[in-house]
Amino acid sequence: MTPFRIAIVGAGIAGLACARDLLEAGLAPVIFDKGRGIGGRLATRRAEDGLQFDHGAPCVMATDAGFAEVLRQAEVDGAAAPCPTETGGFVGLPGMSGLARHLGRGVEIRTGVAVGAVTGDGDGWRVICGDRSQVFDRVILTLPAPQILRLLGTDHSLTADVGADLDAILDVVRIDPCLTLMAAFAGYSDAGPCPPDLRQITLDSAKPGRDRRLQAWVAHATPEFSRRHLEREMTEVAGLMLPMLCASIGRAPAEAVHAVAHRWRYAQVDRALGRPFVTGPSGGLYLGGDWCLGPMAEHAWTSGRAIAADILRN
Ligand SMILES: Cc1cc2nc3c(=O)[nH]c(=O)nc-3n(C[C@H](O)[C@H](O)[C@H](O)COP(=O)(O)OP(=O)(O)OC[C@H]3O[C@@H](n4cnc5c(N)ncnc54)[C@H](O)[C@@H]3O)c2cc1C
Repeated sequence: MTPFRIAIVGAGIAGLACARDLLEAGLAPVIFDKGRGIGGRLATRRAEDGLQFDHGAPCVMATDAGFAEVLRQAEVDGAAAPCPTETGGFVGLPGMSGLARHLGRGVEIRTGVAVGAVTGDGDGWRVICGDRSQVFDRVILTLPAPQILRLLGTDHSLTADVGADLDAILDVVRIDPCLTLMAAFAGYSDAGPCPPDLRQITLDSAKPGRDRRLQAWVAHATPEFSRRHLEREMTEVAGLMLPMLCASIGRAPAEAVHAVAHRWRYAQVDRALGRPFVTGPSGGLYLGGDWCLGPMAEHAWTSGRAIAADILRN
């Protein structure tokens, strides 16, 4: 008998949660991710001199007992530790992406593979990556909603299975951008109040298991600032954000030994769809991710698990 072929596009927490449950049920999903590593917005950027920055989610928190158990198990396995500044929060070890790698253990993950399109193909779904393609019985797309829509194209008759829902997604879902600064300094300083254009400042090097030779800071801009400057060169954005961070931590921009900006075009969900996933009558194509339920990693995890449960049920 031909094995049941399942592809997941996106090795963020939604795709990984889905894959884990399918794997534990005896199926063999394959994940495709365009990134060099896995984790999506649970991200860690490494730089010179042992510097590292969690430039996506700074920590994660559980309200759901199942997700709390995942974090507790990750802690037991040395892939997570309690967050020193957020009561009830956890950080990944050695960086946030460590938590993703823990979730992805045992799963077949093809990194560095950008999926360009997904189209219906007989009873299955064709996943197209450059000049290569492969047909699967089930395809699960767990990218930010606007990226999913681009993957499926504008001709919704080709994806009639979920076509009616695509317009609803466009109408409802809103995801804020976030410009992020990663900066490092020698010596010691403390964060003061957040300047008006910054939403959050995190001293990453104070997290458990991090290199403390330099102070590594991550500053997330507000959605309004991010929208205003989204299309600028990242060197310009770093030039704008560094003085703001410095104002808060009492340093001079010239003292920074590292200052790099990152653009999250789709960072945190402002308005979610309000249901855990989208699928059509055939149940062959699934769309999921945090944008279905809310702004936190836990929402992505819940969406991924709900898709796995639906596939296993059917
Ligand atoms: C700045 C910032 C701060 C945040 N703060 C918090 C917080 O404090 N607490 C919290 O819980 N959450 C926070 N979040 C949100 C949290 O990170 C997300 O909700 C969660 O990680 C989303 O997971 P996901 O699997 O839905 O999507 P993603 O993590 O975005 O995963 C999608 C994956 O798809 C891949 N991909 C995209 N296009 C393609 C393609 N064409 N082909 C192949 N692969 C593709 C990407 O590389 C990515 O790995 C924050 C996020 C950001 C960016």
